[in-house]
This record gives sequence, structure tokens and C-alpha cells, in this order.
Amino acid sequence: MSEKRNVIEQSLQALLEDEEFLPDLKAQTREQAFKSLVAILSTPNQIHKSFLRVALENGTIIRVPSFRIQHNNTLGPYKGGIRFHPSVNEEEVSNLARLMTLKNALHEVPFGGGKGGVVINPKEYTPKELNLICKKYVQYHNDILGPDKDIPAPDVGTGDREMDWMMAEYKDTHPGEPYRGSFTGKSIINGGSLGRREATGKGVYFTFRYMMHDFLHDNEQWLKNTDNIFAKTALVHTDRKLTIAVQGFGNLGSVAALEAYQCNYLQNQIVAVSDHNVMLYNSDGLDIPGLINYAKGHDGDLPASEENLAEENIKATLHNRDDLLEMDVDVLMLAALEDQIHVSNMEQIKAQMIIEGANAPITEEADEYLSDKGVLIVPDILANAGGVIVSYLEWMQGRETQFYKEEEIYDLLFDKMKKTMDTILPQFFGDPFALRQNCYIHSVMKLSTVMYRQGKLY
Ligand code: GLU
Repeated sequence: MSEKRNVIEQSLQALLEDEEFLPDLKAQTREQAFKSLVAILSTPNQIHKSFLRVALENGTIIRVPSFRIQHNNTLGPYKGGIRFHPSVNEEEVSNLARLMTLKNALHEVPFGGGKGGVVINPKEYTPKELNLICKKYVQYHNDILGPDKDIPAPDVGTGDREMDWMMAEYKDTHPGEPYRGSFTGKSIINGGSLGRREATGKGVYFTFRYMMHDFLHDNEQWLKNTDNIFAKTALVHTDRKLTIAVQGFGNLGSVAALEAYQCNYLQNQIVAVSDHNVMLYNSDGLDIPGLINYAKGHDGDLPASEENLAEENIKATLHNRDDLLEMDVDVLMLAALEDQIHVSNMEQIKAQMIIEGANAPITEEADEYLSDKGVLIVPDILANAGGVIVSYLEWMQGRETQFYKEEEIYDLLFDKMKKTMDTILPQFFGDPFALRQNCYIHSVMKLSTVMYRQGKLY
């Protein structure tokens, strides 16, 4: 997984060259501070690795590697999801943990950054076996987890069921201690928050809509400064329908697609969606509610044959899943895994705007190449923070044992995302394609100011 480390270093350099930033940080200590910050941000505080020993239902004993990586806790307890996927590895979890630190700092969520993972394909295990894997994960990482230490949440391959199991194990192994805030992304009946399941997808779509309509459309200055054909044409001529392709149809992709499908005023049209098997295409727009209905009854999968399409009466043509990225559409929403756009396919990308719903879906080389071509990339830490923002609300509700209404959750979520965008977006007028860097600068500025105030930059 590409690290985007250069972006961190460039952001830090830019920040420390700016004399208005921490003016009492003397010249000779600036160089020192730069080195400390690069070291602090490029390496995690702690790496916990353990092999979970699990007895399968057929009697076989397996030992699966698992991780919890705690990147930085300057702003609060470590926070981030646990991923169940066969490609999980230490470097990936570590990079994802760093993204959580930056994401939380960017959106003023009072948490640090962490991430966990278990090297398994969850589809290969029975619910009983998965339950055991979840319990073992908590037992093996027991001392480092807790509502004020490190708070996991769902990620790829995990959901509310796994969080319920893990919280139950945490509760049983920490009798008498507060436990409701130990995991977020739980089911509603088990102390989860309304809107948490939908939060990342809704946040991704909100970011897109806010940028396209409420912000860019009202900012002629931006339009004058950009060569982005998409911004110039699509925004000015709103009578044209915007075509969208969504990669990934899980919890994130399906919710973002549904939001786009339901939004009339931007005239969105989702012409392509894909999952791990297949891509579906319809130039007149796909029936997203029909596809969601189908996926619900088929283990989350999209229809992958003519017969399957007929079951829900869905009109679409079937294609290779990887063709989606190269479709001739205006907007690509990436809602699958990391490293999807890379040196080998970046030249084939036709979209003018790419929203990073997943974490790190574009490699560093591809990011540079596409940005130079004038493609507007909305970075992960800006676009996909909905999940962790509502996790924070869930954590708060768990502590107060008072629960908000669904509309209240969405109001708080969108207010927070809007506040971040109102801070970040005006700064990228001068250099429209430095959006990622502006987000990083903002996060790093917040982190370094707090570390400086705490006397940690000497
Ligand atoms: N896994 C999600 C993310 O990458 C959510 C993390 C959380 O809620 O703590 O942002």
C-alpha cells in the first residue's frame, strides 16, 4: 500500500517554513521539530501482533495472525477499525492507522489513530468460528483496549455483529468497568448509534454534493482558477446529467450509490457499479434500490448472471469488474480497497473527479499523475470520515447512556464535515489540485500545535 509519506513531509516542511506558524518556535528548533514530527508521524507508537489460536467446528486448530497498531494518541484514545481480510499485513495496518490519526485531526474528532486486522477471509468461516475469532482477538489484545485507551470499530470484513461480540468479551473480561465505549459500530440494540451503518456512505456523498453544489457552484473564483473541464462544464451547465461509477457495493458503496440515486438536484446518474465479482452497466442509470435488495438476499453480492438480473428485473449489461475504473464517466467513487488506481491503469482513467470513499485507493504515483492531468481528487481523510465521526457520537452516547434521534446524528455529522470543508476548501483556490496536501497540512498543524503545547517537540 502506498504511504503518501511524501505528502506528510511536504506538508510539514511547508508548515515549518511559515513563520506565522508557532511564531515562538525559534529558528534553530524548527529544524529539530521537523525531524521529530516526521519521525513521530511516520512510525506508530506501538505494534501489537498475536497469533489467534482457534478450534474450527471440524476439529482443526488454526493460528491466524492478528494486529492492533496504535499510531498516535496525541488527540485522544487510539481509534480505528478492525479489518478481516486475507491481504491484511503489518505495513498495511500501520499505514491505515496513520490515516486514522490524520483523519481524526482533520475533522476535530478527539481521538488518536489506530487500526487492527486479522488475516482471514471471513467468508470461509462459520458464524460460530467467527465469534471465537472475535473473542480471541479481544483476549489477546485485552490490556491495550478500552474506552479511554483504544476503541476499535468495523472496517472491511467486519460489522455490527463482530463489534457486539467483541464488546461482550471486553465486558466479561473487565468486570465492573465501563464498557459501552469500548467498541463502536455496534448494533442499535446493543448500544450502537442510529445512522452509524450508513454514516461513511452518507458522508462520502455529502462531501461530493457539498463540493459540487453548495461550495464550488457558488464560488466563481474557483472556477476561474481551475482548468478542470469537469468543474467548468458540469458545474456551469447543471442541465447536463453527471455520470457516476461506484467501485464496491458493500456498506459504503451501496449507501453512497443510494444517496446519489435519490438526489435529483445534481442530476446524478449511476451508470456503473462493481463488486469483487462483476461490473454492471446501464447508460440510462442503474436501479440502485433493486440492486441493494438483491444484494441483501445474496450475501452482499451483486447479480452476476442474466438469470440473477432477471430475479429483480434489473436492466444492465455484465462486464469484468476491473473495467469500471476505466469507464467514460464524470465521477468515480472508490468504495472498495486500497491501491486500486496505480501505475498500470492510471493512464486509462477518464473520470474528471475521483472521490476516495475507501482508504488510500490511489497510489502515490497515480495520485501525482492524475492531479497533474487536472483530475480533481477528493482525498480519503476528507471524504470518508463519516464513519469515525458517528463512532465518536456513539462513544459519547454510550458514556451518557442517552441516545440521539437519527436526524440529530445526521445533523451533527454533516455539520462537522461542513465545518472541515469550510476551513479546507477556500485554501485550495490558489492551487486547486493540492486538496490532499491542504488536508494533510491542516491535520499536521493541529497535531504539531498540540504536541508543541504539551512540550513534546523539543
Ligand atoms: N474503519 C472506519 C475508517 O476507516 C471507521 C473507524 C472508526 O469508526 O473508528 O474510518
